[in-house]
Amino acid sequence: MVIVINKNTPQEKISILVKQIEKRNITVHVSNGVAYCVLGLIGNTSNIDSHSFEAYDFVEKVISVKEPFKMVNRLFHPEDSIVNIDGKTIGGEKLAIIAGPCSVENEEQIVSIAKSVKKSGAAFLRGGAFKPRTSPYSFQGLKQEGLDLLLKAKAATGLPIVTEIMSISMLDRFVQDVDMIQVGARNMQNFELLKELGKTNKPILLKRGLSATIQEWLMSAEYIMSEGNENIILCERGIRTFETYTRNTLDLSAVLAAKKLSHLPVVVDPSHAAGMWWMVEALSKAAVAVGADGLIIEVHNDPENALSDGEQSIKPERFDSLVKELKSIASINSKAI
Ligand code: PEP
Ligand code: MN
Repeated sequence: MVIVINKNTPQEKISILVKQIEKRNITVHVSNGVAYCVLGLIGNTSNIDSHSFEAYDFVEKVISVKEPFKMVNRLFHPEDSIVNIDGKTIGGEKLAIIAGPCSVENEEQIVSIAKSVKKSGAAFLRGGAFKPRTSPYSFQGLKQEGLDLLLKAKAATGLPIVTEIMSISMLDRFVQDVDMIQVGARNMQNFELLKELGKTNKPILLKRGLSATIQEWLMSAEYIMSEGNENIILCERGIRTFETYTRNTLDLSAVLAAKKLSHLPVVVDPSHAAGMWWMVEALSKAAVAVGADGLIIEVHNDPENALSDGEQSIKPERFDSLVKELKSIASINSKAI
């Protein structure tokens, strides 16, 4: 249930109402926007008569929230959320570009790719250190050494780093050194991991699961937010369908749906969706055209010899021209790079 409060209502009046509701064992999430105040009720509201709130002269209306996701629901927070990451933002009028290799391979590789994507306009560096590979015989990532190398690339460029966590056992290291923690598609429903991430205040890039519905994806975001962490960015990265030509099917309608249903920023990963480098540029443009808040793109300086996902990685020159082309498309949605 959501209670919309009239503009300019004194804070004391709102606090009295909040305390009364809390007496009924219900948590109240207060969202103050520029031109509104919304009280989001979480808990068992089935015994509450919503009309009773209409007796207050400062209550504009009461809305029942039928979706199971509450805190990530746009009804709880009508404005777009903007997430701060080490002084940079994702959401709102910004088109955030995250770029880098699938895996961190060595110092020379990650530092040179970081420098090059930064020059082209990327605001964040991606690079996997712990890799969730389908085969146990494939390259599993440099692990802790990969994190050390990401820090070197950050020191060389100033780019905040984005990398995937696979286990709660690495949480302290990630909280200390990683600017935005990625939850990969395979861990989207690792609820214990989500709850622990929810207890931190680190920005979380939450990828959509391989076969997750939009509602399941938003419920995973709810797991994080219900523990207190509101710094969540959703990432559409393609879903499994009957089609086998592409690695996954990029679901651009999910970007529109997620932005309508929730207030969280949504970025798109065209690389893991397509699985083929030659589709990445066009899919990036399409994602920006539908209003994505950002892109996460795999870029490699030597894709032919990459240790993972070379076939879907674009070269730095192509990335450079892509960012230039994206600027005018982003402006259609009043966004700037
Ligand atoms: C990745 O970003 O490197 C990755 C493994 O992505 P996903 O979890 O979307 O497959
Ligand atoms: Mn990859």
